[in-house]
Amino acid sequence: MAIDLPVLTRDILKSDDHLVQSFADLNALKQQGARTAIVSAKGTMVTDSDGNELIDGIGGLWCVNVGHGRREIIDAIRDQLETLDFYSTFYTFTHPAAAALAQKLGQLAPGNLNKVYFGNSGSVANDSAVRILQHYYRRLGRPEKRLVLSRNGAYHGSTFLAIAMTTPEYSKGWDKADNMVHHLKKPHYWREGDGMSEAEFLDMLMEDMRASIERIGAENIACFIAEPIMGAGGVIVPPEGYHRRAGDICRAYDIKFVADEVVTAFGRLGHFFASQDVFGTTPDIINTAKGLTSGYQPLSATIMSDEIHEVISGPDGVFLHGMTYSGHPAASAAALANIALMEQEQIPERVRTTGKLFEKTLKALEDIEIVGEVRGSHFMAGIEFVSDKQSKALFPEAMNIGMKVARRAQARGLIARPLGHILILSPTLILSEAEIARIGDILRESILDVMAEVRG
Ligand code: PMP
Repeated sequence: MAIDLPVLTRDILKSDDHLVQSFADLNALKQQGARTAIVSAKGTMVTDSDGNELIDGIGGLWCVNVGHGRREIIDAIRDQLETLDFYSTFYTFTHPAAAALAQKLGQLAPGNLNKVYFGNSGSVANDSAVRILQHYYRRLGRPEKRLVLSRNGAYHGSTFLAIAMTTPEYSKGWDKADNMVHHLKKPHYWREGDGMSEAEFLDMLMEDMRASIERIGAENIACFIAEPIMGAGGVIVPPEGYHRRAGDICRAYDIKFVADEVVTAFGRLGHFFASQDVFGTTPDIINTAKGLTSGYQPLSATIMSDEIHEVISGPDGVFLHGMTYSGHPAASAAALANIALMEQEQIPERVRTTGKLFEKTLKALEDIEIVGEVRGSHFMAGIEFVSDKQSKALFPEAMNIGMKVARRAQARGLIARPLGHILILSPTLILSEAEIARIGDILRESILDVMAEVRG
């Protein structure tokens, strides 16, 4: 059945008056011009309702890793829906796509991470990990081991627990389950490491972790949750050795290490998973979503160790946790096709070259007066703007400097994501060298324009 969708920008925005956008200034969105309707996409590009073709510099939302419009994934979804549109994985039921995907993820994940609980978003994966670990410790006769260590700067999602694990800036004035979570210091050397060498800064972070655990009591803490590289908190790469040492502390205190690889998995940093291959640590649980299906279907995976599974699947007791769409057939099929494509085209391997070029191209923007730091790794980048390079002073918040640059970039054909005084890039992983150069040029011209405007 052909569905009837609005075509003209005016008509789309009229319908859109009923839609509540995420993380948006809803008041500003009431102005018609403040919204962009994306109507189609192919490869590295998207098209808006006015016919403008734009480089998708944010990969949908850190997720369209293999690029838009890939026939192989679309066919796999359609074939699956024609065979089995939906069945749940509740009670005694399973189905071939979810089963095959769980097995595949067990093969790709490091160490003894072989058992998978599916959800439909990164937030749900993170909530699920905590619920699973609380259940695990209850079964071991330690019900008080239920709290979470997170970090300032983290982003773990928007459900009630995930937002509490997220950095407090994302929930200013909103209620949350903050009695469940303790936030450790943000591992951002450039901003917070004043007067220290990077090694001293790392020692300080580890001491903060150890002291916090001693104060709260390891007997009360279920897990430490951490993104390998913080994403929506500003693309923060921790000092070399951070995750290895945090992992050692977790093991010493019998605290489970949960890696939030919602963004960093499936090729974005040049590997299927970053925890072990990039950061040298094997967590007890890896959570992932986004690039798992390249965004073609909503799906998340909480991949746990055999040891955790052994305890939660022991005698006496039901696993009282479930989401209707856990392991949805179409989403599982999308993930299987997406992973097959990544393997066939060796996308993670290619990212080790093209992602490095992307990193280098963006790093060159640091010679601009208002660019304080360009950071990130491979296809995960953040550009932080400063009004003064020496003091690292920020522009006034109301100036919305990130948004100003993003608007200029979009007018030149590139979508980038503003985050206050930071601009984030997380493109598809299939960019050509020419497209990478073009992104560098557009960003340079846009930043110089904005600099002239704010200085002038
Ligand atoms: N964790 C990380 C690291 C994320 O970047 C995000 C989303 N940007 C989430 C969790 C939440 O995922 P979702 O929006 O799918 O709930």
